[in-house]
Amino acid sequence: MAAPWEDVLQNKAAVQEAARVAVDAALLAGVLMRTEDQPNASDVVNYAPFTLLPSAVPSALFEQAYAVQQDFNLLVDAISQNKEFLEHTLASTIKVDDFTARLFRIHVQVLEEGLAQSVFLGINRSDYMFDCGVDGTPALKQIEINTIAASFGGLTSRTAAVHGQVLKVLGKSEEASRLLPNNPAGGLALGIAKAWELYGSPSAVVMFLVEEVQRNIFDQRCVENELWNRNIRVIRKRFRDVFEKGSLDDARRLYMDGQEVAVVYYREGYVPNNYDQQNWEARLMLERSRAVKCPDIATQLAGTKKVQQELSRPGTLERLLPGCPEAVARLRATFAGLYSLDMGEEGDKIAAMAIADPDRFVLKPQREGGGNNLYGEELRQVLEKIRNSPERTSYILMDKIKPQPAMNYLLRAHSPLQVSECVSELGIFGVYVRHGKEMVMNKAAGHLLRTKATEHADGGVAAGVAVLDTPFLV
Ligand code: ADP
Ligand code: MG
Repeated sequence: MAAPWEDVLQNKAAVQEAARVAVDAALLAGVLMRTEDQPNASDVVNYAPFTLLPSAVPSALFEQAYAVQQDFNLLVDAISQNKEFLEHTLASTIKVDDFTARLFRIHVQVLEEGLAQSVFLGINRSDYMFDCGVDGTPALKQIEINTIAASFGGLTSRTAAVHGQVLKVLGKSEEASRLLPNNPAGGLALGIAKAWELYGSPSAVVMFLVEEVQRNIFDQRCVENELWNRNIRVIRKRFRDVFEKGSLDDARRLYMDGQEVAVVYYREGYVPNNYDQQNWEARLMLERSRAVKCPDIATQLAGTKKVQQELSRPGTLERLLPGCPEAVARLRATFAGLYSLDMGEEGDKIAAMAIADPDRFVLKPQREGGGNNLYGEELRQVLEKIRNSPERTSYILMDKIKPQPAMNYLLRAHSPLQVSECVSELGIFGVYVRHGKEMVMNKAAGHLLRTKATEHADGGVAAGVAVLDTPFLV
């Protein structure tokens, strides 16, 4: 799986020169982030961290990941419409996990009132690593699927050009020409535009629901600008703004400052600390509204780790996607071992197995955004403590995926240039639009490769661990 730049890695002078070019190219291309010191101002910005060199990705696995994306879109959409499945699957989790429970309560409340929404827009990102089997053959294994606020589709639309230039500077023009074009920003905007159009009110706006701290604004602006280019108005608001200035009319049309909102695109709302009481009220108002939520709360719940674990049970995929045996087979082929820690004999056995051999597993709570999973000795200690308590059902257990590391340079502002042993995670963006019962769009919208040093077990780009990368197919 080695990329053809082993020769370059040891050439200090060439690497230093290429790194200088790379950083300037990233700034010029708009691979940008606001700084930690000034997360809400654009006076001083910096480049988003990225690898100096593209990383090798086996082309067969890359194609496999693209080929299964429409299946994942259909699956997530089917789960979001299956009240019984969500209820049954999350029953044990919501007893002990307050955050999931609150989301679930809104989901139930909205269904009881009856959905005002008739256009549904899903934007997700299915993430994978390349697991190295005993014989060294890599296999595509899903880490998770993100059904809310899946990020970096914008910035990654601009990274291939940067890596292309780096390769040219290093005398690798032929390889540069083989880097694939990639434009998730355009794909995401296409889905949002379609949902906006089907909503059917030309004067209505698209609302990006954004965080209080907005370091990653440029990633969002990439998508936003695509919408402006289509003459679709975009506003950016926080939960707080919705609480203060949002309202519903008799037909549950959503208004912000008197402007009708057609689509709410969440880039916020996926972790507990995004919410105080007012924000929960704002979320409820949005969910009750007729506006297209991307995602609606049922689709957010479809992306929980508990649902992921339940999908791996024999028979579950078949029930959710009846009459689609090929899709089921494609989906299942990407699943790693996943285990329930529900109370009972099965869960007892799983807990004992993980305590006995913690390095084989990852322990995951129902959280997003990186840095929450437990590994190795810490996994053992935590599980030991909660093994006989219902608290354990707020976690799932997963086989640890073991990719083959490769050497690369991770470029980060204010950090020394040094070579690191790295592993990569490939994400495929999925976009779909459903109008009533009819699927009117179902696409794979591009990819994201993120790479981190192997010294970190966990964490994404926003968490400051992984960096943006470009796949070089081998
Ligand atoms: P989050 O919702 O916090 O992003 P993930 O399930 O994506 O949670 O896990 C975060 C990170 O932990 C991943 O990006 C990956 O680096 C690592 N990770 C997660 N699951 C596994 C696994 N089964 N094997 C190896 N590493 C994993
Ligand atoms: Mg993740």
